Amino acid sequence: MNLKQIRNFSIIAHIDHGKSTLADRLLELTDTVEKRNMKKQFLDSMDLEQEKGITIKLKAVRMIYKYNNESYILNLIDTPGHVDFGYEVSRSLAACEGALLVVDASQGIQAQTINNVEKAINLGLKIIPIVNKIDLPNASPEQTALDIVNTFNFNQEDILFVSAKSGQNTNLVLNKIISDIPCPIGDINKPFRGLVFDSYFDEHLGVVANIKVVDGKINVNEKIHFLRSNAVTSAIKVGFFNPKMVESKTLIAGEVGFIATGLKEIRNVKVGDTIAKNKDAVDPLKGYKEPQPIVFLGLYPEDSSKYLDLRRALERLSLTDAALYFEAESTGEAGQGLGQGFKCGFLGILHAEIIRERIEREFKIPLIATLPSVSYKVTLSTNQVIKISSAVKFPDSSKVLKIEEPIVKVFIYSPSIYIGQIMDLVSKKRGEIVGSVYSKNKGGKEQKVKIEILMPLSEMITDFYDSLKSLSSGYASLDYELHGYKVSNVVKLTIIVAEEEVLALARMSHMSKAEEVGRKLVLSLKDVLPRAQFPIKLQAAIGGKIVARETISAVRKDVTGYLYGGDVTRKRKLLEKQKKGKKKLTRLGRINIPKQAFWKVVKI
Ligand code: GDP
Ligand code: MG
Repeated sequence: MNLKQIRNFSIIAHIDHGKSTLADRLLELTDTVEKRNMKKQFLDSMDLEQEKGITIKLKAVRMIYKYNNESYILNLIDTPGHVDFGYEVSRSLAACEGALLVVDASQGIQAQTINNVEKAINLGLKIIPIVNKIDLPNASPEQTALDIVNTFNFNQEDILFVSAKSGQNTNLVLNKIISDIPCPIGDINKPFRGLVFDSYFDEHLGVVANIKVVDGKINVNEKIHFLRSNAVTSAIKVGFFNPKMVESKTLIAGEVGFIATGLKEIRNVKVGDTIAKNKDAVDPLKGYKEPQPIVFLGLYPEDSSKYLDLRRALERLSLTDAALYFEAESTGEAGQGLGQGFKCGFLGILHAEIIRERIEREFKIPLIATLPSVSYKVTLSTNQVIKISSAVKFPDSSKVLKIEEPIVKVFIYSPSIYIGQIMDLVSKKRGEIVGSVYSKNKGGKEQKVKIEILMPLSEMITDFYDSLKSLSSGYASLDYELHGYKVSNVVKLTIIVAEEEVLALARMSHMSKAEEVGRKLVLSLKDVLPRAQFPIKLQAAIGGKIVARETISAVRKDVTGYLYGGDVTRKRKLLEKQKKGKKKLTRLGRINIPKQAFWKVVKI
């Protein structure tokens, strides 16, 4: 195969703008999937391996297309669709020479799309701008095209107007992929180097790496090294997807395909790693990043007898997800607080939600989750640096030299009329605007602004996104990436119930907000805790200093007391009910409270 006849491309689109539907049309037009076998959003529904609990989406598909009497190989490389997977997106883009930019004519451009297009341009990709959904009655294709021109400086004439749904003009997309996207460059005579842009675990083949061959070639059964993970194995199968797995025995420079490694751990085959046959003959490819969980939350089984099932589910999921981290966590003695569960680390809030949902749906384990927290860098007075993501493990403040908290760079894209409100929100969240660019307003109705912000991750993961959406009636959008760490006045807030510290309610907070949180926690405890025969003291403390207090006054214990008069059955029923209720109680010091009520407090 001549490299000149290969095109490797991705589709950059915001969720629901039509990426999968356009892919469907391309698969049809190239006869990769026959029309009668076509299901909607084919790639999304195409599971490579469908066994209990694991579904893997197709990440690259090879199509053959005839153009001007020449056959071309088109490799469509899929990118993950949401904000927490920015790094994976960048590696998928790095495997391509071009990208289709798809914008929904009824929705317009979104922040994440801008960010991804900028990544693609920086990687040297050729962008083909496409306005989609032109069939919709409320679409404004011309306006959307103008926005694209104003935002990215593309030429108006280069924009394609399509309906991925009806297929209108989708053939033009194929032609433009061939005419505009450059063919891959790569030297087949150089030593083999491959870029891993995705990997998944298969029961029979072990970890399968989706790769782009950058130089040289790889044959089946050849020995391979992973330069970053240092894993060594051999290529037990080599090939591509069309969309079924096809063995081809060899992949050469410029080609996209898979290598089945037989390795049992996904951690040996990380996105961004470089594969080589001779590890001393080549340099690792640029841009590798270790997957790094940045958001942490405790996951506890609602039914504590499911603890071991939950462990198995997490072990299972981490086979396919190198970024998922977990460790056993207990928030107190048996029966206290939340009982036994796991502290889990994720790439972001959405990643956490996906995993949580999969555990509930695929493994059928109802969960309760603590509030998300971040990981602080704590320098001890011994100069040792430790990372702490759980207030329970926070060292005594007398042993701490400094605490640094993670900072994210947030990109917001919004109609410029909301800038005032956005600035207010940002300052409330301890953020700082570091740059803003107004788009040209050539012929446009509405001016847009792109704002760059540095802010603490802990503020971003609370309700920043929801607040942004509501202040802008849904028009502002955001994307973010980890920026670094910054020294911060972070304190540990402890909650004391009846003179006993409740570990499950301790949390880290910025000094400026700790008191307020403490007050809220104490008030809501007052609300949910049942009265006891003794007065219950509720306190919030920061480093030994009480910052909020409430007291629940005592009550007589006999719950049936108020049912004076004779109805014995009613009395008995009430006692029965109380007995049943006891099973779902959790203990806070000397006080029992319903688990559900307790969770309401944890969520504050
Ligand atoms: P993705 O999230 O980018 O993959 O978007 P999908 O391809 O799943 O499309 C999202 C929704 O938009 C689906 O309901 C599609 O049927 C619909 N859609 C996609 N393209 C078009 C189009 O050109 N016209 C219309 N009317 N609907 C479309
Ligand atoms: Mg899709």
